[in-house]
This record gives sequence, structure tokens and C-alpha cells, in this order.
Amino acid sequence: STTLFWFRRDLRLQDNAGLYHALRENQDVLPVFIFDTSILDKLDDRDDARVTFIHQSLELLKTQLEELGSSLLVLCGDPVRLYATLKPKAVYTNHDYEPYARERDVQISDILQRKDVAFKTFKDQVIFEKSEVVKDDGSPYTVFTPYSRKWKAALTPFHLKSYPTEKYFKHFLRTKRLPFPALDDLGFTPSPIDFPERVVKRAVVEKYDQQRDFPAVKGTTRLSVHLRFGTVSIRKLAQLGAQKNATWLNELIWRDFYQMILWHFPQVQSQSFKPAYDRIAWRNDPQEFEAWCEGRTGYPIVDAGMRELNATGFMHNRVRMIVASFLTKHLLIDWRWGEAYFAKKLLDYDLAANNGGWQWAAGSGCDAAPYFRVFNPRLQTEKFDKELVYVKKWVPEFESEKYPKPIVDQAFARERVLRVFKNALG
Ligand code: FAD
Repeated sequence: STTLFWFRRDLRLQDNAGLYHALRENQDVLPVFIFDTSILDKLDDRDDARVTFIHQSLELLKTQLEELGSSLLVLCGDPVRLYATLKPKAVYTNHDYEPYARERDVQISDILQRKDVAFKTFKDQVIFEKSEVVKDDGSPYTVFTPYSRKWKAALTPFHLKSYPTEKYFKHFLRTKRLPFPALDDLGFTPSPIDFPERVVKRAVVEKYDQQRDFPAVKGTTRLSVHLRFGTVSIRKLAQLGAQKNATWLNELIWRDFYQMILWHFPQVQSQSFKPAYDRIAWRNDPQEFEAWCEGRTGYPIVDAGMRELNATGFMHNRVRMIVASFLTKHLLIDWRWGEAYFAKKLLDYDLAANNGGWQWAAGSGCDAAPYFRVFNPRLQTEKFDKELVYVKKWVPEFESEKYPKPIVDQAFARERVLRVFKNALG
């Protein structure tokens, strides 16, 4: 029997912690990827860009593995059931902190244990996980700044060191080429969306603190989809951040922070981190929600963001904050609605970061801005898109007759949200 290395959100051969351990400790490692039908079945769009992205990444992995005389086993189904039918020597994989994945992994570990098969898991996706960075009394941080301070103090070269998988590539199982399902076999069609390149632009990182807030400038790295699926290594990026730009490193720490929050507080998946926020009387007007989704609110910066999202699967961080604030505060629509829409559309969709971002914007999250701070889209535009380059790119008709009137008046919306939030929060 062979040893399996199970790829999940770590779709690369280089600097992959679990893969390194599998190869170092075994001579016959066969990598496997499972298209989880319970996840695929929930996707609304047959041309979902994430499925295309994964499919392309697997194709590349398989080619690389075949050049090494091995191959990639690609399965499709319910991972728990599949593992019930397999009897490998051992299974290696990397940690996943999402509630669904944790439960799945516990079930698989139990099934394998009954067959005397070891299930070995490793930290790979983040620099610090779970309780590695906690308060002195051992409890998790819920505020970012002290967390980030402790994170930086705990960082040593060891944490950034890459796992030299290539030293053991000879330990991949030698096998003939294995079959590879086409997208069509999975019930999907190719997405027309162009994916951001897997290139770390050093010049962008170096100027990150000056340029990151302007959506018309290519001032952020666009690596989020690659971090999401592990087609780049977080250790490599954190090393670059530590050397070149503290502001950028800080964003990578936010990423660890939200994974840590999700691990310790899995209830945030459905509940407000601050429970009082679940008393808010959301208006949840379906037509207004639709206008927001489609970029027809009559607020150009909001509409530009939503149209960018719909067309590319990406939205600039500054604009994510503006549209999220607009939905929850101007329109008084439950952050969970916005979160779900982003989950459907974002290429880089990640439960921890998305939930963290939405709860931050709504004010319900850990370390969120106080609720009475309501983003003003016009002032945000003056500050961050002064020449209207971004707005004109996505909403060219914004000054014409065709463009809708504002869906809600700014002053009215502000007064209303303050009243409604105050009622709920006291
Ligand atoms: P850069 O600015 O170059 O940053 C580098 C990397 O750091 C990013 O690729 C990302 O992995 C990480 N990062 C940056 N900012 C954050 C942050 N605030 N929280 C966590 N990680 C961060 N990011 C996601 O990866 N997935 C999401 O589903 C997601 N949803 C969001 C929803 C809302 C409402 C908000 C306000 C933010 C959300 N973010 C999410 C965070 C952020 O907007 C994106 O990570 C960023 O825009 C990606 O662009 P980039 O790769 O150019 O990032």
C-alpha cells in the first residue's frame, strides 16, 4: 500500500509542510486531490471561477509530478466516504481551520484510526495558528494590535524557513499517468475570468504603504487567490514582508488573525462576534439588496466596486470596506447577506477573512470600528479616487441621465442607522 498526501488549500509542490513530512518519512508517496461533491453541489454557477482555478492548478501539479515519474490521483465524491474505502499506509495533509473542514477531518481521522492508518496533519497555511500567539494567560486575543505585536515578537527565522520538499522528490510513488477529469466531467464549464498571475511583485510590496488605498492604482499584490489555494507559500511572502514592508506584513498578520479567530470562535460563521449585534432590526429589503449586488445604488464608488466584483471576481480592499459599510449601514441589510454574496463571487473567498471583513464593517466583529463611524461614500471617493479613474472605469455613465438616483439619501441613512443600531445596542 502507498502513503497518500492529500492536497487541499496548498496546491504546490514547493515549500509545503505536510508534503515535506510525507516525503521525508516515506518512500512511496502518492498525492491525491478530492473534488468534494458536497462543496461543488452548493455552487450556483456552472462556470464558477474557483473551480476553474483549482482545475488549472491541479493540471499544473499533475504535469510537474509526471515529470518526476509520479502522478496525481484526482477523486470526486464525499471525502469521508472515500477514505472509508481506501486503506493507504498513512495519510498526510495540512491543517484547515474552517468548521466544516475540522469536522470532516475528525471523522476521517477516526475512520482511518480504526483501520490502523495514521492521519498526520501539519501547519502550512499560516505562520502562527490556533493558540501559538495568545495572551499571557493563554486566552486568545480578540483585538488585532496586541495580537500583531505578540506575533512579531514570536517570529523567528525558523517560522519563515521553507520546507525543502525537493530534497525528497525521489520519494514520490513511481506510477503511470493517472486519469484526469475534465471540468465537464465535474459538471462545470470554464470561467471567462482572467486569474491574477502567480508573481510576487516586489516593487508593489516596496511601495505598498503609499499606494494600497487607491483602487485605481495597481498598488496591492493581487496574491489573495494564490494564498487562498496555497499556490504560493505564506512563509515566502511573510519573509518578503518582514524584509521589505511592515505595512504589507501587517496584512498577512490580519490573515493569521482571522484564521485564529475562526479557530477559537467558530460560532462567528453564523453569529455576530458581539452577540448584541444580533438584536439589530435589519431592514433586509430584497430589492435594495439586488440593486447593491448589481451595482445600481446610484452611489458611484459603491457601484464601481460591485461591478468590479461581478466582472473580475476581485474587489480592491478599500472598496470592499466601502460597499460592506454601505450595505450594512446605509441600507441596513444583515452583514450575512453581503458575506454570502461575496462568498459566491470572490475568487479569493475565504471564510475566515471574509467573515472577519464583514463583521468588521458591520461593527459586530472583533476589533471593529465603533458603529457610529459610518463611511461616507462621497468623502471616501474624494480621498481615494479623487480623479474618479476607478469610478469611470466601472461606471462610465455615472453622470448621465441613465444612471440611477441615489437609492437612499446620505444624511437620512446616517441618522437612521445610528437610531437603529442604538436601539439594539443601547
Ligand atoms: P494585499 O493588499 O497585497 O495583501 C496581501 C495578502 O494579505 C492578501 O492577498 C490577503 O491574503 C492578506 N490580507 C490582506 N488584507 C487582509 C485582511 N483585511 N484580512 C485578511 N487577510 C488580508 N480577503 C481574502 O483573502 N478573502 C476574502 O474572502 C476576503 N473578504 C473580505 C471582505 C471584506 C468585507 C473586506 C473588507 C475584506 C476582505 N478581504 C478578504 C481582505 C482583503 O480585502 C483582501 O485580502 C485583499 O483585498 C486582497 O487583495 P491583494 O491580494 O491585492 O492583497
